Amino acid sequence: MSRAQTKPDRMAWIKGPNAPCNVEPERPDRAWRLILLGAPGVGKGTQADLLVERLGACHLSTGDVFRAAKCIPECNRSPAMAGALDYMKRGELVPDHVVLQIIKERIGCLRCRGGFILDGFPRTVGQAEVLQMFLRAYDIIPDAVINYTLPTLEVIGRLSGRLTCGNCKAVFHATTAPPKKAGVCDHCGGVLAQREDDRPEAIGVRLEAYHKSTSPLIDYYNKLNLLISVDASGTPDDVFRRTIEALRTSTRGGHRLAAAGA
Ligand code: AMP
Repeated sequence: MSRAQTKPDRMAWIKGPNAPCNVEPERPDRAWRLILLGAPGVGKGTQADLLVERLGACHLSTGDVFRAAKCIPECNRSPAMAGALDYMKRGELVPDHVVLQIIKERIGCLRCRGGFILDGFPRTVGQAEVLQMFLRAYDIIPDAVINYTLPTLEVIGRLSGRLTCGNCKAVFHATTAPPKKAGVCDHCGGVLAQREDDRPEAIGVRLEAYHKSTSPLIDYYNKLNLLISVDASGTPDDVFRRTIEALRTSTRGGHRLAAAGA
């Protein structure tokens, strides 16, 4: 299994279909298509970055699309996007019709020869059903749906201590992975801050939304025979090792890794 040569810039995903995109996979037949599930704070984004580095697909996070939209001046935001940002700030799920509109505009990223690692989408059974419909229409079967598991208390600990760089988006933790200099990113010198939706009042809302609306997806993908579960405790490297092992033992992922000589 070779490492990806160039990290995809995801511009078409983040900015919309009119943005240029640098995805040119060397082996389109080997493109990976994974869906990551798990409670907020479980480490899906970190694992997605590691998987991108190793497997070479694009990290497609709906949360990143909304966070990028926050940087657009208010007067240039569509009413739907402005509404979505209010939901996000409170820790609530953005309504399905808004999320699905965003996905529809970016359908090229799901059909892309470079593959995808979906993080934060789907988050409801309604979203998952529409995604299945899109994928079926293009004859795409995901390689696996990886469900990251962690006890709720640990999830709360991870979310409440998380610090994110406003510039390069690197993630630190106030106690378990602190930056060398308080408040400053080790990688780019940017300012570290707590995400608005990592504040205590939003964390409870997000976890409730996860249990009510997102956790039924575990059953949904289990029935489709796509689900693999991975224990998300320990360091990012521990979790990544478990992820690759789980992919190796899964029906579709195992064939893929074996074919790549890994
Ligand atoms: P994340 O970075 O994935 O934790 O997403 C941050 C926030 O964006 C969530 O708490 C929601 O408010 C919103 N969001 C992201 N993806 C979705 C989705 N698929 N459905 C509904 N809301 C979403």
